[in-house]
Amino acid sequence: MANSKVKVLYNQLFINNKFVDAVSGKTFPTTNPANKQKIIDVAEGDKADIDLAVNAARVAFLPDSEWRTMDSSARGQLMYKLATLIEENKNDLAYLESLDNGKPLEDSLLDISMAVSTYQYYAGFADKIHGKTIPADGPYIAFTKLQPVGVVGQIIPWNYPILMMAWKLGPALATGCTIILKPAEQTPLTALHVAALTKKAGFPDGVINVVPGYGPTAGHAISSHPDINKVAFTGSTEVGKLIMVEAAKSNLKRVSLELGGKSPLVVFDDFDVNEAAAIAHGAVFANMGQNCCAGSRTFVQEGIYDEFVKIASNLASEKKVGDQFDATTQVGPLVSEEQYNKVLDMIESGKQEGAKVEAGGSKVGDTGYFVYPTVFSNVTDDMKIAREEIFGPVQQIIKFKTIDEVIKRANKTKYGLAAGVLTKDLSTALKYMENVDAGSMWINCYDIVNTQCPFGGFKQSGFGRELGADGLKEYLEIKTVTIRK
Ligand code: NAD
Repeated sequence: MANSKVKVLYNQLFINNKFVDAVSGKTFPTTNPANKQKIIDVAEGDKADIDLAVNAARVAFLPDSEWRTMDSSARGQLMYKLATLIEENKNDLAYLESLDNGKPLEDSLLDISMAVSTYQYYAGFADKIHGKTIPADGPYIAFTKLQPVGVVGQIIPWNYPILMMAWKLGPALATGCTIILKPAEQTPLTALHVAALTKKAGFPDGVINVVPGYGPTAGHAISSHPDINKVAFTGSTEVGKLIMVEAAKSNLKRVSLELGGKSPLVVFDDFDVNEAAAIAHGAVFANMGQNCCAGSRTFVQEGIYDEFVKIASNLASEKKVGDQFDATTQVGPLVSEEQYNKVLDMIESGKQEGAKVEAGGSKVGDTGYFVYPTVFSNVTDDMKIAREEIFGPVQQIIKFKTIDEVIKRANKTKYGLAAGVLTKDLSTALKYMENVDAGSMWINCYDIVNTQCPFGGFKQSGFGRELGADGLKEYLEIKTVTIRK
């Protein structure tokens, strides 16, 4: 049984470089979604624990603290060390990630290699954060000094736990902030293991605190905390809005939000149909569809629509669904019962609204939260499956005729996280790129996320950017210094 292969070493809160029980003494179970069995009980943080973590992070951020007085190059070296330790522990971490989340082991290893790159990329920035000198009017010299925003709260989701942690910790550490991170309640294990590695790397007490717990308690305590300077959140649009309200009501802390999507991938008929179907398949089914930029509205031009549907359905039907630790598995279980029920409800609504099931369309047995990769054709824009984020392995294939029409339809959503276009015609690609509202735009590819390139949303997919040099801005305050000559 998968559960017995790896020992979970860390299941307590990580505060001030120590593993501790929750003040309340409460715990919550985390389960393996492939068999619904409990892996272990984890300490359940809430307001009292967040307060302790904030105190530790605040002390670590005092002007004379070890962290604040450390050379910025030394801060970078600590981050490189953490990257190396994660790389050295990648097999254990991948095992824990797959156990907790359900994704196939190969996928966890890939996420970990991207997490390592993220820490390395931001480590290099630690001593390259510069202000500007400014030609101010009058007898003055002016310059800007970029300072860490302070104590930051970071709330992350369950779909890429170890990678989302890296996206959050990377820029926060490079800029010299101190951190309270709350992993998702569904997947707390790798965050705690990485926390242990941060201590081993040598980060001073209080710089990194990891407090598992539930959203309305621990998460809310972060967004409403009067002594946290910034909150960074990845998750649903609904919760993103709550976080903004709490941030405003408490202390106007800075906010960055990476939220949901209902991203369009548009296939023009001049593009090779086999290649298009393969790209579109990857766009929606990666990570069992539990991907914020999933291309879950596949618009296909009418001339190749029928052929595309056939190929796309075959690709989905051929996928092997199974236990995340079976080397032949391509599709693991969904993360939780809640997601499983939500996805099955969406599939049911697609059927009821008249979309045609071309592949899948049901659950797989009852042992775990498995759903067959599902393809719907004859989907229209007004159907629920074409409007709402599904966050599961469900592809909607929608017919269109002209570029002007499809641009309008692509934009008919509250979201604006990502978009893609497949065409050999440069003018078509550029027109689409310029007119479709999305923070990530992929031309003749999809879901290519690079550590060096900023990532984030338009509209209700959130604001602020992660990754790239732009990702640092979210963690910096600009101080303007003016000196009389
Ligand atoms: P969620 O937004 O509820 O949870 C994400 C994180 O926010 C978790 O750590 C959770 O504990 C925390 N949270 C929940 N309520 C909170 C609150 N009131 N205050 C502060 N923090 C809170 O997402 P979910 O319930 O796990 O999934 C629901 C839907 O969200 C999914 O079906 C999917 O559509 C979307 N989602 C998007 C992403 C993404 O990457 N953009 C990730 C996960 C889920």
